[in-house]
Amino acid sequence: MEGQADNRTIEAALHDARARVLADLSARDVAEAEVVSALEEALSKRRWWVRQWPDGAEYVAGLLAQDIQDALLETRGRWPVCAACEEPHALAVDPELGPDPHWVCEARGEAVAPVGQLGG
Ligand SMILES: [Zn+2]
Repeated sequence: MEGQADNRTIEAALHDARARVLADLSARDVAEAEVVSALEEALSKRRWWVRQWPDGAEYVAGLLAQDIQDALLETRGRWPVCAACEEPHALAVDPELGPDPHWVCEARGEAVAPVGQLGG
């Protein structure tokens, strides 16, 4: 029974992480088929990861956001670009490994939005 509860927690966390990253991709107009398939691939890797370490379930959204940043950097460049700075740079996920991840502008030292709410 405990195992099943863990599994539900894990699947809920993965579902939430996917929805949040997809919302941010849509907010920044890059939710295309190729990007969505990169998201699914990253999600399946994180599913494996969180099954090894169920206590990390609440870290999955921040990690998935960083996975997609890395994937997009290879194919399209920086994402998401900071809208506040003249010098173009990507927003960073803070904390890199922790609950309640936010997009932050490291140049200004400011939180921009929670992961999943880039669209406001
Ligand atoms: Zn900035």
